[in-house]
Amino acid sequence: MSSLSFERTQSVAIVGGGPGGYEAALAAAQLGADVTLIERAGVGGSAVMTDVVPSKSLIATADAAVAISEAGDLGVQFYAKGEHGRPLKPQVAINLAAVNKRLLSLARQQSDDMRTSLVEAGVKIISGHGRLEGDHAVIVSTDEGGTDFDRIEADTLVVSVGASPRRLPSAMPDGERILTWTQLYDMKALPEHLIVVGSGVTGAEFASAYMNLGAKVTLISSREQILPSEDRDAAAVLEKVFKRGGMSVMNKSRAQGVERTADGVLVTLADGRTVEGSHCLLAVGSIPNTAGIGLAEAGVQLTDSGHIAVNRVARTSVPNIYAAGDCTDFLPLASVASMQGRTAVFHALGDIVIPLEQRRITANIFTAPEVASVGFSEQDVLDGKINGVVHKLPLASNPRAKMIGMKDGFVKLIARQGSGTVIGGVIVAPRASELIYPIAIAVERRMTVDQVSRVFAVYPSLSGSITDAARAMHLVNRDDAIL
Ligand SMILES: Cc1cc2nc3c(=O)[nH]c(=O)nc-3n(C[C@H](O)[C@H](O)[C@H](O)COP(=O)(O)OP(=O)(O)OC[C@H]3O[C@@H](n4cnc5c(N)ncnc54)[C@H](O)[C@@H]3O)c2cc1C
Repeated sequence: MSSLSFERTQSVAIVGGGPGGYEAALAAAQLGADVTLIERAGVGGSAVMTDVVPSKSLIATADAAVAISEAGDLGVQFYAKGEHGRPLKPQVAINLAAVNKRLLSLARQQSDDMRTSLVEAGVKIISGHGRLEGDHAVIVSTDEGGTDFDRIEADTLVVSVGASPRRLPSAMPDGERILTWTQLYDMKALPEHLIVVGSGVTGAEFASAYMNLGAKVTLISSREQILPSEDRDAAAVLEKVFKRGGMSVMNKSRAQGVERTADGVLVTLADGRTVEGSHCLLAVGSIPNTAGIGLAEAGVQLTDSGHIAVNRVARTSVPNIYAAGDCTDFLPLASVASMQGRTAVFHALGDIVIPLEQRRITANIFTAPEVASVGFSEQDVLDGKINGVVHKLPLASNPRAKMIGMKDGFVKLIARQGSGTVIGGVIVAPRASELIYPIAIAVERRMTVDQVSRVFAVYPSLSGSITDAARAMHLVNRDDAIL
């Protein structure tokens, strides 16, 4: 383990033990600092306890259900022998109680593993609610009543307190029928009819998962298309797949209120229409957990939405206070939170720092199919933010896609006009989260489409479509290029 030499040991106090705080703590311990992490719920944060780990584990079950239901296309048949030896076609059934038990246990396990890693690295963990006292101390209330306090002084403070589901006064969650995503895992059986309010990433992922688990799903979107901030072609593919799977997608429909009925929920739309279902999931965004923790008093600048304003090394307006993750005004992704946490500590403790750049960030939407993206988008090109050329290659023409029975998806590459440097990409496919990596490397290393096209891809493979798309962009540096 390397350690930088300081005149005296530096101390770092971190509030919040999600991906941002966890990575900050590990990096600080590695650099030889005296590290205290304050966490009020569980190490791993919302990412591990309620957001990423449980949702992606649920989606793994949904993917298995899809694989079974589509296996027939490849000639796989399931049957049981009925009366007189006649074949019976069995149905796929989901035991949601068992699924939820599994994913909550995975979350606990992951949280325990992370706590162990911190302890082994020498991080002191304090369980309690932290609040800044000035710019060099954190007060921690360590009991429920808030009467027992610890006071931690540190040279550097890192705030990584995350965010919580946004609640609407006209649609208050009750934990039984009207739910935020943190309350989904108490359901004992599949909802008969789940109404998902909000068609951003979280809404789309859960709508896709519950549909594929066998629930009737209605997705209510206030915009013209679901996933309004994502690639339009990708959103169109998903909408088509959702509708084909039986989902009711209600675009241009703003939900105004949600209330309980005798045996379900009633969603009222802004235009007076109503939708009845058994359960309602509210996926209408998050609010940062930044209120009442002494940030403004310490001089930390907040945005109008309550997020902490940070620069590209995760530093706030106060020189020795850093912030990482969903509580900042950067992108709300676990991978970004981790990177910000590490960057903050490297900067504070004088290690090598590479400032964060949005153009390098890779993201994925875990629907079926998945939507992975990196770098600049086609919309950025259309808006004139960057002089780029876009090429889209449907995966239907890919031989491997045909062999595995894949029906939907595409590879899209975005390159700079003139140089042909790859500046972005989108992949819609099963496991797009794994397939995007070569494009992310191309973006990071500023490779040209010609360089990407020369890389050997396995035949047959889905990644072959990445080299095919790059090859099709060979003439990207010519003004008369037709792509
Ligand atoms: C349903 C869902 C699925 C997601 N899936 C993905 C995904 O697949 N990939 C991805 O990259 N991102 C995903 N995200 C986003 C990801 O969960 C967040 O970006 C990530 O959790 C941010 O990490 P964080 O450290 O900022 O905050 P958190 O994970 O929220 O952790 C913050 C921690 O701070 C603690 N805390 C808060 N206030 C205090 C206080 N005053 N004192 C002490 N402790 C405090 C909290 O208890 C919490 O443990 C998903 C989000 C949702 C909602």
